[in-house]
Amino acid sequence: MITKYVSMTEDNIDAKAIEDAGEILKAGGLVAFPTETVYGLGGDALNPKSSMKIYAAKGRPSDNPLIVHICRLEDTERIAASVPESYYKLAKAFWPGPMTIILNKSDIVPIETTGGLGTVAIRFPSNRIAHALIEAGGGFIAAPSANRSGRPSPTLAKYCREDLDGRVEMIIDGGQVAIGVESSIIDLTEERPVILRPGYITEEMFDNVLGNVDIDRTIIAPDSKIKPKAPGMKYRHYAPKGDLKIVAGPQGKVVDYINKAVAEASEKGEKTGIICTDETRALYRADSIKSAGTRTDEESIAKELFRVLREFDDEQVTVMYSESFDKSGIGMAVMNRLMKAAGQQVIDLSK
Ligand code: AMP
Ligand code: MG
Repeated sequence: MITKYVSMTEDNIDAKAIEDAGEILKAGGLVAFPTETVYGLGGDALNPKSSMKIYAAKGRPSDNPLIVHICRLEDTERIAASVPESYYKLAKAFWPGPMTIILNKSDIVPIETTGGLGTVAIRFPSNRIAHALIEAGGGFIAAPSANRSGRPSPTLAKYCREDLDGRVEMIIDGGQVAIGVESSIIDLTEERPVILRPGYITEEMFDNVLGNVDIDRTIIAPDSKIKPKAPGMKYRHYAPKGDLKIVAGPQGKVVDYINKAVAEASEKGEKTGIICTDETRALYRADSIKSAGTRTDEESIAKELFRVLREFDDEQVTVMYSESFDKSGIGMAVMNRLMKAAGQQVIDLSK
């Protein structure tokens, strides 16, 4: 298959290209497109064949359900069996935006889309290109992140090309995404709302709208034996090709430890990389030193993290060390993704 490339901005949407993309989706084809979180790989959520194609293009296990993207709140009632009051409260507070809500599904949603589950994940994104595409494609677009399974989610269209060229009908380049980590997922099918995946919308923000929400214990204690409720969270995800370890503790100790470990790895012939921040960059020595952003702005780190991980792969770095980040606010999402990338390997120097 020859992949068609188009580019546009949110302020200057190419109506003809969107119309073509809509036709592709309605005919059962796939289109990668920008959202505010990461790029998505879209297919018609109500067509089981489209969902099967998404799994095949990504190389994703088909028990890992897809998120259904909508562009009108009232469309919820077509894909959900019932819609609780709390859904509308959350929608009012955070949609359009980086939040995904789990409800019980209606009959029109094929189990191919929900990975065999009786529930459906719903998101109303704010990116205007995404919005136009969902509308053109029929209103219900299944879209997981537009990466090959196991690679970091794409924050730029060039990473969709790297992973999906020749595997999808079209890729829409809409520039760098605004947030850089995937949506927060909250499950409303249980008695109490449960956060299944941390993202830009934090526990505190959910609490402010709904009162007390729970958080899936596997997010906080990732090494526990409990099965995560979001099936996708059990996979190692975002694994860089080299070995990545996180080093936590007081800054001076962390810098000394990483420099020493990197020097030892270099001596053994490894190609070394460090993920740090603007504040510490000058203190390190390694083959490749990358700042993910500044500690004064955790959102900058969220935006650059996946790009940094991909660049290390491109540079064929074999041994990497990363500083640890504050878990408050969006930091919880950043550390959740970083811990997955590191296969949960943390060296804690705080004691
Ligand atoms: P991605 O779109 O690549 O960010 O992956 C979608 C995420 O949403 C995965 O972690 C899925 O496990 C999760 N998800 C999608 N549908 C459901 C559902 N019905 N119940 C729980 N988690 C879901
Ligand atoms: Mg993904």
